[in-house]
Amino acid sequence: DLSNAIMAQDEMGRPLIIVRDQSNKTKSSGLDALKSHIQAARQVSDILKTSLGPRGLDKILISPDGEINITNDGATILSEMQIENQIAKLLVELSKSQDDEIGDGTTGVVILAGALLDQALKLIEMGIHPIKVANGYEKASQIISSHLDSISDEINIDKLNIENNLLESSDLFKAAKTSLGSKIVNKNHNQFAKLAVESVLKITDFNRNDVDFELIKLQGKVGGSISDSKLINGVCIEKDFSHPQMNKNLNNVKIAILSCPFEPPKPKTKHKLEISNVDEFKNLQKFESNKFIQMIESIKNVGANLVICQWGFDDEANSLLLSNNLPAVRWVGGSDIESIAIATKGSIVSRFEDLTPEKLGYADKVYEVEFGTTRDKMIIIENNNTKIDTNKVNTVTNLIRGSNKMIVDESIRSLHDSICVVRNLIKNNKIVYGGGSVETSCSLKIMQEADKQKGIDQYAFRAFSQALDVIPMSLAENSGYNPIVELTKLKAAQVANNNPHLGIDCLGNNNNNMKDLFVIETFIGKKQQLLLATQLTRMILKINNVIISGKDQY
Ligand code: ADP
Repeated sequence: DLSNAIMAQDEMGRPLIIVRDQSNKTKSSGLDALKSHIQAARQVSDILKTSLGPRGLDKILISPDGEINITNDGATILSEMQIENQIAKLLVELSKSQDDEIGDGTTGVVILAGALLDQALKLIEMGIHPIKVANGYEKASQIISSHLDSISDEINIDKLNIENNLLESSDLFKAAKTSLGSKIVNKNHNQFAKLAVESVLKITDFNRNDVDFELIKLQGKVGGSISDSKLINGVCIEKDFSHPQMNKNLNNVKIAILSCPFEPPKPKTKHKLEISNVDEFKNLQKFESNKFIQMIESIKNVGANLVICQWGFDDEANSLLLSNNLPAVRWVGGSDIESIAIATKGSIVSRFEDLTPEKLGYADKVYEVEFGTTRDKMIIIENNNTKIDTNKVNTVTNLIRGSNKMIVDESIRSLHDSICVVRNLIKNNKIVYGGGSVETSCSLKIMQEADKQKGIDQYAFRAFSQALDVIPMSLAENSGYNPIVELTKLKAAQVANNNPHLGIDCLGNNNNNMKDLFVIETFIGKKQQLLLATQLTRMILKINNVIISGKDQY
């Protein structure tokens, strides 16, 4: 095999051939390769199966440097696992894309993809060509997509109810609460559902039904308990006022937001400054502090009563700020500065001379809070406006508390998912019912359609149908039921009652009508799950060669 050979010349110009060693390039192809891919994918999806649903178990993830993470979130579990296999990595990407687009359903999408591959393998082992399976899957997914439409429902986004403080009876609230069902914040369901709904509503533009996610901050602070978590109408930054004696409780605050240095002029090293006696030194000092006082005055003249600086200033400047009654915060990071500017509708000023009254940010209140015994401090920049106001840009921050970092992190992830659900519902109030009811209904539908297909598609359709069954079966298994028995009962019940909303009664409510229990999933989320899982499966089925490049050795 000369494909590994290269021609070269020695120092005398004589030609010679160097044959490269195959080294550690690995290559696998054909059915073997496909089988090993599917096995790898199955391992990943098996890990997630036990996390699905309200009775799903949490996983402890321990990073290489010993950091512990407890979670139930599919995307997080996968991203923390040190996955080597290339195909398994595609599943990680899969849950990530579901996370980015929708924010919820990250476990389900991987389980579904795993099941689709598993079923495909059976067909391939029967001698059906992978591409035929892939094409059959594609056809099936289109039918499912329109079936989803036919069993979907709409919820009521009742703005008035919410504004009149009837939040807890709103559909949005119930939806947020359902999505928290399987999470660590279990006991604080109501509180967290409220946080989710309120924070989304505060920034929703109801004219366009649009939600700018950037305006909801999720910030964790270890200490206290989960129930101390709260929603702040503004931003909080992990800083304190530059001087302990400054006024730490400001009202009607006009803020100068500076990304330029704010300090007395300093002689640069490249200039030479000759000081030969004490008077000259004192003069210089005086000059510097006068200059700085002028700077302070100019800030006050513009109307500001608080300065937020990206840079620091020294103690002398600090005491001048104090004595001139201008509270300041120093060393505020770039992203905090940006959030402050957005939340207060101010502009970041990068040259001191550019400061004008229009560039100031405004907040109703700015105050410092101290946390328990740790003496940790935070500054909260807040607007009183609690009315839902469509014209106002407003940043909100969910300050999440908890006794340790693991709880805080997982609570943030749960709240994030729940916020995603609320946001998705505001954008599109179409829903389907969960608890495996949609999957079961789609499975029945596609099984019916299978009989109408000619040729190989029949097999692909049946395989797809069986793959969908994995969701209700996993939910049943995680809730302590016999999965096969439950699935059979469920299918019979859906057909007998002609009701696609029947699902797995995970929480033992003695009712398996998911509509009654308000177990919902967003329509766009479910559609995306099916789409992404099918796409990925087709992609993997079409791979027949994996070449992993290693380092070549000569
Ligand atoms: P994902 O990361 O995919 O959202 P979850 O662990 O949140 O995974 O589980 C979601 C699944 O659990 C969905 O199929 C959903 O319909 C189902 N589910 C959630 N709450 C309930 C409930 N109270 N009863 C039955 N099923 C539920």
